[in-house]
Amino acid sequence: DSFLSMNLSRPLLKAITSLGFSKPTPIQAATIPVALLGKDVVGNAVTGSGKTAAFMIPMLERLLYRDKGKKAAATRCLVLLPTRELAVQCFEVGKKLASHTDVQLCLLVGGLSLKSQEAVLRTRPDIVLATPGRLIDHIRNSPGFTLDAIDILVLDEADRMLSDGFHDELTEIINSCPKSRQTMLFSATMTDSVDELIKMSLNKPVRLFV
Ligand code: AMP
Repeated sequence: DSFLSMNLSRPLLKAITSLGFSKPTPIQAATIPVALLGKDVVGNAVTGSGKTAAFMIPMLERLLYRDKGKKAAATRCLVLLPTRELAVQCFEVGKKLASHTDVQLCLLVGGLSLKSQEAVLRTRPDIVLATPGRLIDHIRNSPGFTLDAIDILVLDEADRMLSDGFHDELTEIINSCPKSRQTMLFSATMTDSVDELIKMSLNKPVRLFV
């Protein structure tokens, strides 16, 4: 398996090379081709497996080359993560992968000023990375910011988001996204509550256990 055989665009391949990734990790090899087809996926993957790039690469590829006319009209991708630290790490990887494109990413986590993040949201970033609590603050308080145009939703470390008590926030957020979206869910463990979340938020997911 190689990144070259995945039919990725040049700007993404360049960024992957700059990051020093010479070949896909197992979770990337399993996830990227399926996610590029627009299918929902469940991945059983832990931090350190390369799962961030496993969802960021197909997300960027689909964002860049699908429905180009919609560009800049609204936020189209949403990544939910349990903690500020994980969201910051994902933001850094995402920015590097998007560095040869005009895709804009926005980070919404506690500790950043609500006012300055509202200003960023007014520019309609393509991708929002957020913790559930802070995202809800912005949905309620940032004028004009909605999840109405979300095409791709990622639920990362789903088990941890649920055990951290974000169940109600997740339900509210997922119900605010269009039904006709692609959803990718990653979890280190598959508990009953993760299964329930999968049933509620994914449509005939492909299950990838690597
Ligand atoms: P993650 O599991 O997404 O937190 O990634 C763990 C680490 O693996 C990060 O430091 C990444 O930069 C690195 N990484 C991800 N994908 C690859 C790859 N294909 N080749 C080499 N390193 C990678």
